[in-house]
Amino acid sequence: MKVKVDRAKRIKNLPPYLFASIDKMKQEAIKNGMDIINLGIGDPDIPTPPNIVKRLQEAVKNEKYHQYPSYEGLLIFRQAVAEWYKKRFNVKLNPEDEVLTLIGSKEGIGHFPLAYINPGDVALVPSPAYPVYNAGTLFAGGQSYIMPLKKKNNFLPDIDAIPARIARKAKIMFINYPNNPTSAVAEREFYERVIKFALKYNIIIAHDAAYSEMYYDNYRPMSFLEIDGAKDVGIEFHSLSKTYNMTGWRIGFAVGNKDIISALGKVKSNLDSGVFEVVQEAGIEALTCDQSIADDIRKIYQERRDILVAGLKSLGMEVEAPKATFYIWLKTPKGFKSADYTARLLNKAGIVTTPGNGFGKDGEGYIRMALTVKKERMLEAIERMKKL
Ligand SMILES: *Cc1c(COP(=O)(O)O)cnc(C)c1O
Repeated sequence: MKVKVDRAKRIKNLPPYLFASIDKMKQEAIKNGMDIINLGIGDPDIPTPPNIVKRLQEAVKNEKYHQYPSYEGLLIFRQAVAEWYKKRFNVKLNPEDEVLTLIGSKEGIGHFPLAYINPGDVALVPSPAYPVYNAGTLFAGGQSYIMPLKKKNNFLPDIDAIPARIARKAKIMFINYPNNPTSAVAEREFYERVIKFALKYNIIIAHDAAYSEMYYDNYRPMSFLEIDGAKDVGIEFHSLSKTYNMTGWRIGFAVGNKDIISALGKVKSNLDSGVFEVVQEAGIEALTCDQSIADDIRKIYQERRDILVAGLKSLGMEVEAPKATFYIWLKTPKGFKSADYTARLLNKAGIVTTPGNGFGKDGEGYIRMALTVKKERMLEAIERMKKL
């Protein structure tokens, strides 16, 4: 540009968004004529169920929806969320003030620290993790205190290892189960400890439940809000993206403590103007229709999971079938750093994966594979890995 203006430190100090750099590597490989199998990004390859698409097509004819949406979201959408919550988790929510519509849960998570973090304040952020917890904290001028997720702790943060002086300064703790990228799950006992910790140190718990509906076999993830006292200390972020193959539609929601919901709502009403109401109507369809559509989606991922896990095991790799999420968190072979191994898979086998350290330094020694390609391609990926 022709004027001399420095970019703000908050974006200069931020690494490029993880998936943007992976995309670049992938484009390069495609340019070199490679047939790419993309296990890199958690974006469903299956289209949105037809009843949801149809509801949007009908709703767009409603001229009322052509104007600005309401900030907090259509009440009928928030009611659908409350009903879905009651059915799925047996948790009661007041749609008036305990539910907020989001432009995808990423938007809500990214903006959330602006509601509570002053410059210098601390947020407790897991590593490896979805990058937005840290980015949102930095944008608010805060600092992330890293909670490492280690295999020996089943990829749960070790709450007792957080120094009291940090805990006293912290205002938000981010947690995410079922977890991206490790695919770990959390149970009641863990959430109970988190709530006790939150009450002791006055910390808001922000639980990202984007994968609560992506489960397998007989496993059913819990909502954080099922635990006694949860609604006194926190909120939970949900997404329609993964459950209903709706990543492109940009709709999600936050639920929980009404003061916290209202603080996030205040930030949002000053920054965005809500979700296109036509999309919210499609969201109502997703949440209230026969939920066998989600079963069908789970079935597809479960089959892929079984194929990939069996294939990796046949190659002698150390891997467990995840109970939830559509990710395989794979230990790299001996002698390989995460980035070396992803580069090898891409350059020698045309397989895109995500280096674990891209989710934070504690992800070093792992790569993440997403179950977002057809099973034939999954088998092809295993064949190619065999030849390596
Ligand atoms: C995909 C994902 C989200 C974001 O979902 P959107 O609703 O599409 O913004 C949030 N958290 C985690 C952990 C995710 O993997």
